[in-house]
Amino acid sequence: MKKLLFGTAGIPISTIDYSTLHGIKRVRTLGLDAMELEFVRSVNISKEKAPEVKKTAKKEDVVLSCHAPYFINLNAVEKHKVKASINRIVQSAMITSLCGGKNVVFHAGFFLKMNPEKVYKNILNGIEEVRRILDEEGIDIKLRPETTGKKTQFSGLKDLLRISAEVEGVMPCVDFAHMHARTAGKNNTTEEFREMLSQIENSLGKEGLRNMHIHLAGINYTDKGERNHLILEDSDMNYEDLLKVWNEFRIAGTVICESPNIEEDAILLQKYYRSI
Ligand SMILES: [Zn+2]
Repeated sequence: MKKLLFGTAGIPISTIDYSTLHGIKRVRTLGLDAMELEFVRSVNISKEKAPEVKKTAKKEDVVLSCHAPYFINLNAVEKHKVKASINRIVQSAMITSLCGGKNVVFHAGFFLKMNPEKVYKNILNGIEEVRRILDEEGIDIKLRPETTGKKTQFSGLKDLLRISAEVEGVMPCVDFAHMHARTAGKNNTTEEFREMLSQIENSLGKEGLRNMHIHLAGINYTDKGERNHLILEDSDMNYEDLLKVWNEFRIAGTVICESPNIEEDAILLQKYYRSI
């Protein structure tokens, strides 16, 4: 079995007749192995359509995951906003599961300058509620809170590993570009990459390294963190050493490329990884 699958954040740009189904086929034609369904504005696949997506993904041997809508804050002050956030993650998970996907990525929330431990508890409660609903429905999918690009957003690797260790069925989506940007330029050397993977192994064991969901892109940042994604070659993202460390730690899972030229950088990463 292939250890690391590379794919695109959404439908490849070069897809003719732009649609989810054509996107999956295009991913296969490009020689990639995964595609993340981008529900960033809304969950845009219906229950009725999902089985067809599942069938196509299976036929083309493309692994699907999803990115839940951006409008999520499990630490919102207003209760109705927390409830709506929980619903958006649940909806994303249900549809992705019907599409045959096993991972749902989301940005868990914002710190809102509140006490970090209080924020942690609020977000933990929200994620536990999502998990409870999904378990009740018998939906087998991993919840993947993502490492975010700004310090104002929940959160870095440490918090996400803590939640993952605490709640069954939760593992981080490790966005290495975000980790680089949220620390304003750190997390970009071999030693730092090793440190991050060791942290994952210490918290989640070998399973943490063998079942990873990763985001990677070139990134532009300031002292405050992420500004925007870039093409890898136009950025200072040290992807070569990162991929060497992935290989060293024998990680497995899915790598989703979020560069603006999504499929081109996904292919670049895949090729580079295979050349190590
Ligand atoms: Zn994201």
